[in-house]
Amino acid sequence: KREESQIEALATLPPELEEEIGKLDKDFWVSKEKLKEISERFGEELAEGLEENGKNIPMNITWVLGFPTGRENGSFLTLDLGGTNLRVCWITLKDSKRGDLDVKQHQYKLPSELKTGEAEALWNYIAEFLEKFITDLDLKGTKDDPLPLGFTFSYPATQDYIDHGILQTWTKGFDIKGVEGEDAAQQLRDAMAKKNLPIRLVALINDTTGAMIASAYHDPSTIIGAIFGTGCNAAYMEDCGSIPKVAKTAGITPDTPMAINCEYGAFDNAHRVLPLTKYDTAIDAESPRPGEQAFEKMSAGLYLGEIFRQVLVDVHSRGLIFKHQDVSKLKQPYILDTGFLSAIEDDESEKLSKTGDAFKETLNIAPTEPELEFIRRLAELIAVRGARLCVCGVAAICRKKRLSSGHVAADGSVANKHPKFKKRWAGAMAEILEWPEDREEDPIVLTSAEDGSGVGAAVIVAMTLERAKRGKM
Ligand code: BGC
Ligand code: MG
Repeated sequence: KREESQIEALATLPPELEEEIGKLDKDFWVSKEKLKEISERFGEELAEGLEENGKNIPMNITWVLGFPTGRENGSFLTLDLGGTNLRVCWITLKDSKRGDLDVKQHQYKLPSELKTGEAEALWNYIAEFLEKFITDLDLKGTKDDPLPLGFTFSYPATQDYIDHGILQTWTKGFDIKGVEGEDAAQQLRDAMAKKNLPIRLVALINDTTGAMIASAYHDPSTIIGAIFGTGCNAAYMEDCGSIPKVAKTAGITPDTPMAINCEYGAFDNAHRVLPLTKYDTAIDAESPRPGEQAFEKMSAGLYLGEIFRQVLVDVHSRGLIFKHQDVSKLKQPYILDTGFLSAIEDDESEKLSKTGDAFKETLNIAPTEPELEFIRRLAELIAVRGARLCVCGVAAICRKKRLSSGHVAADGSVANKHPKFKKRWAGAMAEILEWPEDREEDPIVLTSAEDGSGVGAAVIVAMTLERAKRGKM
């Protein structure tokens, strides 16, 4: 059964548009069989990544050694450099009961020119931002007793220890010179030192690991932390004995748990199983890192609106839509974000008038009724494909670890803001894992992750300092 939308059609499409949407439907629909094939290949790539460094999916070791007890405590600074925002928090974890805490925070949209500039400009900007925050909150640290910082750096990094991380490659459209191949933690440390900030960077953390740990802090059923946002990725807990590339590291016993940041946005970079359309190929070719993040480019929030835009441009160029309209805005890459797409799917107004208004406002285009219907169906095709693909990685982790129940703590704009994502995700999960039709409830459930880059980072810093006190790594 594949009919998703129960919404009554707004208008009948003229035959040529009906034919077009039919073709697009074929290109974008991922069948149950295909999902299973993708998920199986996914399992193989996950295993390869654990074997040695340099495989397609990095499977980065994070030095987060186990789940929290829920009794971690203390006050910590956290900093989040994500795809969109820069956020700093001062978080107090109280050990009185599981998950009791207090958060103060500042958040800004990261200026877009920084995303393609020089390393120094980025780190100086961040150091200034931290300086302003600790001054505003009157936080006092000293040389001997600096403020402990957890730095959420949502990019693939090789970590030889927890307060260090060599950037493997920028993702999510970032292209800042001078960081790839370098230790991002050290670069931030240097920028903070120049300003004499009384801050000590204790841990560099991926957002997926943060989401998993933040959720586990409240919810012991957490099995995976996942991000379905600007980018896509997940983290889970592995035993060191099952990670050939760390098994021989001195002092690590085989039963030590280690959080793995899969970095599975890179899945299938060799294009063996993903059902690429010509639009996906074009997006990859025009991106700053062609050939990388193949899976992410088909499923993550940064790209969904762009895929939609590419299709509209193509269909317009063949004279099928927006006749006699000015399409100059539609021709601007990345002008449409995921929010634009979700709003279309959310539009329950009569005659899709909200969608019509959005087109007018953002693109200066006034679609006809059949065009609006075409737009709605296209938005659905793209969002459904994204949601179904998103499941393949998580399902592969569950199969690999024989996880048959628990909570997948998810964060990110696609998971949280897209109205139908959770339902689609659960449906595809049931298909891949063959859950019985007559089940009372889903054994594996997508939950909303607690604040990963705030609380999660704070808990990881607390765990790290505690471990250091006990003299272990
Ligand atoms: C990054 C990951 C991150 C994910 C979600 C990807 O582009 O490589 O490190 O977890 O986006 O933010
Ligand atoms: Mg983020």
